[in-house]
Amino acid sequence: MNHAILHVDMDAFYASVEVRDNPALVGQPVIVGAGPHDRGVVAAASYEARRYGVHSAMPARTAYQLCPHGIFIRPDMAKYGAVSRQIMTILETFTPAIEPVSIDEAFLDVTGSLGLYGDALTIAKRIKAEIHAQTGLTASVGVAPNKFLAKLASDLNKPDGLTVLTEETKVQVLAPLPVAKLWGVGKVTERRLQQHNLRTIGDIQRLPVAELRRRIGNAAEHLHALALGEDDRPVATDTATKSISSEHTFDVDTADMAQIKKSLLAQCEEVGARLRQEKVAARTVQLKLRHADFTTLTRRRTLPQPTQDEMQLYEVAGHLLAAENIAEKRIRLIGVGGSNLVAPVIQDDLFDRGDEKRARLAKAVDELRDKLGPEAIQRGSAIT
Ligand SMILES: [Mg+2]
Repeated sequence: MNHAILHVDMDAFYASVEVRDNPALVGQPVIVGAGPHDRGVVAAASYEARRYGVHSAMPARTAYQLCPHGIFIRPDMAKYGAVSRQIMTILETFTPAIEPVSIDEAFLDVTGSLGLYGDALTIAKRIKAEIHAQTGLTASVGVAPNKFLAKLASDLNKPDGLTVLTEETKVQVLAPLPVAKLWGVGKVTERRLQQHNLRTIGDIQRLPVAELRRRIGNAAEHLHALALGEDDRPVATDTATKSISSEHTFDVDTADMAQIKKSLLAQCEEVGARLRQEKVAARTVQLKLRHADFTTLTRRRTLPQPTQDEMQLYEVAGHLLAAENIAEKRIRLIGVGGSNLVAPVIQDDLFDRGDEKRARLAKAVDELRDKLGPEAIQRGSAIT
């Protein structure tokens, strides 16, 4: 069966967020990154700035020479991070199979969501609409049978693009593009290919693999497959394999221990439920705190036995929290996560410790949540 892969990529992300938040910047060449006379580089440029040749990763001083009337803005990573989480949350409503590539970019495997939400193009349209409705920003989306083609597609009609590549059209669409568009072909390989008179992807498509190998060696098979639009790398869902976490930003920075602990408990419940859902247990528990001044710290503890139990997560996270001095520095964000994930030994683990009741309760709560949604159940204030 063909896969349906989406690549979602926000347009000029940092610059777009700044323009969104300051209408005076609309239509201006906005350059987010280092100052015009500083060492350091451009992190993002609005499309107006790009017309002057400004692009990300370029030295800011070069950008200033190209576009002296550009509006240089320092990045506000906390703000972009918050918008990024908003976007990833939207994506998660369409499929759990998400691979975030960077703060503003992700792959989605929607093969399993097709019946539910319509075909891949319909899902792509809904994602674009939802992102725009919730954040006021535009994304470009590529729809294709694999990751390489999806990423290529999202880049073809920026900004606010929606491009579909299919098994039927892929070879044709790839043929006229420069070899540098092939995944993994950097400056060095590009030069090498050009020396062999291979300038477009079509040039590679037409060459027998054996001949290509004679010219460029071991990378031949791989490049030839890519040139034909073949790529079998799966969408690697990070959260499912590496860690499961939850975090919360308070509306107002707080030093109120009761409020902080209440939030922590809710997060432990969420993490516990997701660990059980993914059928994994965490050996390591980590606590994340961000202070009012945006300093962020992470504390972790590895357990003798892996756990899926929210009360055990809460106990450990609570200890980690107690070791920090939060009385003076108020808390902006708190988060808890389980990592070092292993197969659970649920029955033995919980039951041996005489926690049968707790395991049953957790299971019952999970079932109710599944039926009623995550907001349906929150524990009372068993916390001091
Ligand atoms: Mg982007």
